[in-house]
Amino acid sequence: MATDQSEVLVRKAAIRFNNASLVTIFAGQVPHQEKFMVHDWIIQRSEFFQRVLDGQRAEVDKRVIELPVDDPITVQNYFEFIYTDELSVLSEKCTGERCTHFRTIAELYMFADKLQDLRCKKAFIQKLCSHILERKRDGKSFIPECFLVGKIYKGTVEGDPIRVLMVDVWKTCRMTTERVHNLPKDFLKDLIASCQDSITTTYPYQDNFFHKGAKYYMDKVAGSD
Ligand SMILES: [Zn+2]
Repeated sequence: MATDQSEVLVRKAAIRFNNASLVTIFAGQVPHQEKFMVHDWIIQRSEFFQRVLDGQRAEVDKRVIELPVDDPITVQNYFEFIYTDELSVLSEKCTGERCTHFRTIAELYMFADKLQDLRCKKAFIQKLCSHILERKRDGKSFIPECFLVGKIYKGTVEGDPIRVLMVDVWKTCRMTTERVHNLPKDFLKDLIASCQDSITTTYPYQDNFFHKGAKYYMDKVAGSD
């Protein structure tokens, strides 16, 4: 006899929401450590979590994952995003002289990179792009500051789409001696190489962030699969 469709759904829900599907995650280190209880079916979107869970299959009742080097706030934001598709931390619009969200988003991107969660990397790079496009009081766009470019270069590898994005944004900025001193060497190398490339293209002034748009970098994330 065919099973009633609604019965199947109820059974599925029961499987998905019972305690056995919960995983305990510890983020950060004592005394700043935070404990999270999350569902295995939702974190399995990350290859990193999937691998760890596969290795723990034998002891389903004591599934614990430790993330000692990760910031509990970033981990919490990540879980909020994968459950709700929203980030309450970004709900306030930036109105001052700088975008207060760049750092949060960049840290989330790097965490998603570590977790090998491509869908999130793509979503976070899109958010970063839309915050760059926000306007300051003077009508100019927010540009990620030197310290943030430094953080991004420390937390990613060569050729990462977020590095390409930083280069393309900074190509539109005036470079001062102070900035040169505060930006990481690898970034300056990429910036020079990219400017050299632009000189040889037919449309040198279009080879930057404002002409390429968010989708260009999002596609790069998908391409790095
Ligand atoms: Zn902002």
